[in-house]
Parts: sequence; structure tokens; C-alpha cells
Amino acid sequence: MTLTKKPETRPAPNSWGLVGGENPWEYAPAPEATDHVRIEPEYGLFIGNEFGPAKPRKTFTVINPATEEPLAKVAHASKADVNRAVAAAREAHRSSWGRLSGTERAKYLYRIARILQERSREFAVVESMNSGKPIKESRDVDVPLAAAHFFYYAGWADKLEYAFPHRTPRSLGVAAQVIPWNFPLLMLAWKIAPALAAGNTVVLKPASTTPLTAYLFADVVRQADLPPGAVNIITGPGEIGMELVRHPDVNKVAFTGSTAVGKMIARAIAGTDKKVTLELGGKAANIVMDDAPLDQAIEGIINGIYFNQGEVCCAGSRLFVQESVYEPLIDKLKNRLATLRVGDPLDKNTDVGAINSAGQLAKVQELVESGIAEGAEIFQPDCELPTRGYFFRPTLFTGVSQSHRIAQEEIFGPVLSVLTFRTPEEAIEKANNTPYGLSAGVWTEKGSRIFKMVNAMRAGVVWANTFNRFDPTSPFGGYKESGYGREGGVHGLGAYLDLSDGAGR
Ligand code: NDP
Repeated sequence: MTLTKKPETRPAPNSWGLVGGENPWEYAPAPEATDHVRIEPEYGLFIGNEFGPAKPRKTFTVINPATEEPLAKVAHASKADVNRAVAAAREAHRSSWGRLSGTERAKYLYRIARILQERSREFAVVESMNSGKPIKESRDVDVPLAAAHFFYYAGWADKLEYAFPHRTPRSLGVAAQVIPWNFPLLMLAWKIAPALAAGNTVVLKPASTTPLTAYLFADVVRQADLPPGAVNIITGPGEIGMELVRHPDVNKVAFTGSTAVGKMIARAIAGTDKKVTLELGGKAANIVMDDAPLDQAIEGIINGIYFNQGEVCCAGSRLFVQESVYEPLIDKLKNRLATLRVGDPLDKNTDVGAINSAGQLAKVQELVESGIAEGAEIFQPDCELPTRGYFFRPTLFTGVSQSHRIAQEEIFGPVLSVLTFRTPEEAIEKANNTPYGLSAGVWTEKGSRIFKMVNAMRAGVVWANTFNRFDPTSPFGGYKESGYGREGGVHGLGAYLDLSDGAGR
């Protein structure tokens, strides 16, 4: 793709020794092996521990976004299939999973966690092939964190009365879960682990572009010998997600995705007694104060926005820099950007992989063009992009003002908008000037300043001197248009339990 304006570029600094420097050297290719992975030509729906075709039989094709080659066909569920999946989950809640003691549920969850660890290499490769994310991220972040969620909630399964003292926690019943394409396995784990720990059964719909690790997980469910119907996985377009969440026999809805679809779901289930959590978009502020350790902050900024190609709901996509350190910080940032390696997600040296779909790439391109048209200054590293696949150069915009679309809208791509401020009060004011409120970051050496900023920021998660850190024990969720409810930690467990002790039932 050619941009309407030629971006500023610069080679990697000489001292880094990379291509473009005085004595250039390049990383040798380090491709992860794929011969240990078996992707089936076709995946059926997973209902009652059986894989079977959609009824009527219909499929769609899933592709590898880094090569644009087809990976597999998957079943296209119908409304009748949604009914079958919910019925299987209801029956398992009534007769098997819903009747197990917490200790028994914990054993199954530990078993799932251990199998995920044993099969971690396979999961990491399939995740990278299907989503476009670099193997070093799927291997070191997505898969270990997914296993950690199952370990963590396994620990709670037999201790619900301790998690919620003076209550009699009860499972809700059937949970309908709809997840996005940016962290396919991890979002599955965030949703399924607490649901099962609390004694619910599940019907999960993955995103249509990234269903493969969900179907691999279905195989883990069978391997762990869960009772049929405890976990059901169905694939199909957005309408099937809507059929699922609206289903009258569903007790709990958990959705992660765009704010637009989150609002549609909230409207569709308004007036029912379904319990709901919505984890939606974000436009996080990452604030660098003048006393911050700049080199450390650079790594946090890079991780904040270029991790997973910026396709992260809590990405630090708005960088606020105190004016007195603006010039040195931007200079360091441009140098660091020039060293990022963009390309094959399966290469262990790749920093930025492929954008998940042609549609998402088009959205990123459109917003970048709007940034140029509105007068912001664009910088990109001068790297080669693969000739096939949905790749986009990591991008930095300076000269951005609050009203620019690139400062207001969620881009969900590797694009950073830089703004400036003079005082902490101005930074807080600007940071909160967004319809979203999912996450934020602050960089400063002063502890009291951290507390002041953190308390003033309308964001569900605020990181101090770090960014994009996740832990199963820590609740995650938003304010304002970033959604409501929390996932992770004890809060995330409570979202899957009836804690009313009969009141209002
Ligand atoms: P969506 O919200 O459309 O997709 C998320 C999930 O919801 C997918 O499983 C999708 O299925 C499903 N879905 C789509 N429409 C409906 C519906 N009407 N009812 C119920 N479920 C539905 O996100 P997109 O993939 O379209 O991405 C658009 C934008 O949303 C991105 O550019 C990004 O800005 C934001 N986004 C935010 C995420 C976050 O984590 N906060 C995650 C993903 C996207 P299917 O895949 O079959 O369409």
C-alpha cells in the first residue's frame, strides 16, 4: 500500500549494528517448526464432546493472514445448532457438571491447565498461523497465560464460600460466550476457566477469522474427559453470536469485542435476568512525566502499542509526553522503531506480525490516511514488508491534536498518536477526554505522583512504569464505553455466580 504522503523514515542507529548501520548485520531466519502440528482440513461444531457438521451442512474457510492461504474449513452453525449446543450445556448443568463438587471441578481444571502446558508448542504455532501474531508472543504470553487462568480458577473451585464469605454461591447455569480474534485462546481461557470453576456450563463462539485454537481446545476438553456438554464450541458469523446470547435458556452472557456490537448485545438482552459482562474497546493514554526513566519508558511505549500489532483493546495508543522531555523521547522512540522486525509471524525474531484480516488492515489504512489528511506528521521504519499477507509498518504520528480521529477512535493496529502536556492536571484532563476507559499507563519516578494520577484516571486498569502486564489474579475491565463487569481475579469469579442468596429470584 502506498500512503498519500511519504512518511519520515530513518535507519537503525549505527550503535545498534543492524541493517542500515555502518557495519550492518541481519538476523538469520529462525522459523518455528510446523511439522508437529496437525490442522484438520475441516472442523465440525463441538457439541456434547462430539465434533459434527452444522445442520444444514455449511462451512466457511479460515485463512492464514500472513500468507493469505487457506488453513481449514469450519462449520457454519445455524440457529438449530445454537439450540442444540445450549440444550447440551443445559443438560450437562442439570445432570453432570452442575452436580460435581468444587473439588471434582478443580481436578478437571487442573487437568486442562496441565494439558495446555504439555501441548503449548502446538497451541502457539496454530495461534500464530491463524491470527498473524508473532510466535514469541503466542509462545511466551498467550499460551502460558491461558494455562495460568485454568490453574488460578482451579484453585478457587472448591473455595467459593471463602471467596464470598457469608454468602451461598450458586452457579448460574448456561454461559454464552462470544470472543474476538486478537487473543483467541487467551480470551477463551478468560471466559471458560471462571465459568467452569463456578459450576456453569458453556457455549462459546470464537471469532470467524480465528477459530482454530478453540477447536484445538475442544480436543483438550475430550482429552481431559470432561462430561459431555460442559463445554460446547460453535462457529458462525455475528448473527450466530446474537442467536446465542439471546437464547432464552442462557443465564449468563460474556462478550469481548467492539463497542458497537457490545451495545447491540446490551440492547438485545435488556429486560431479561441474564447476568452480563461486556469488555469492549479502548483508547488508552500512556503518560510520560519529565522525571520518568526514558529508556525504560521507551520499552513500555513500544510494548504498549506494537505488541500484537496494536490489536489490543488496552493498547497504549495515545502517548502523552511532558513538553520538557518531548524531543529526547521522540528521538529515542524513532530510533527504537527503526529496529523493529516486521514479517513472518512464525519467525522467532519477528516483533510485529500480520494484521488479522484484510478488513482490519483496510480499517488501519483508512485511519492512518485520516491522520495524514488532518495534518499529523507520520513516521515509519524503512523496513521491507512481505509481498503477500496483511502487513502494516509500525507507525508513529506526532503533531496530533485532541480532535484528530487518530486521537479519538480505536485504530486496533500498530499506530501510535503522540500528544504533549505541560502539567499533570493537563495530562489527566486530556487522558480522560475519551469515550473509552479501559486502561492507562503512567511513567514517573515519584510514588506520590503515581497515586495522584492513578486515582484521577477514569480507566479500569492503570499500569505504573510498565504496560500490558496481565495476571489471572488481577481483575480487568472498563469504564464508560469500554464496557462493564470485570474478568480475572475474584471479581471475575463473582461474575459467574449467583450471590443473591435467593433474594430477587
Ligand atoms: P466484533 O465486535 O464484530 O467481533 C467480536 C466477536 O463478536 C466475534 O466473535 C464476532 O463474530 C462477534 N459478533 C459480531 N457481530 C455480532 C453480533 N451482532 N452479535 C453477537 N456477536 C457478534 O469486532 P470486529 O471483529 O468487527 O472488529 C471491529 C473493531 O472492533 C476492531 O477494529 C476493533 O476496533 C474492535 N475490537 C475490539 C476488541 C476488544 O478486545 N475490545 C476485539 C475485537 C475488535 P464474527 O467474527 O463471526 O464476526
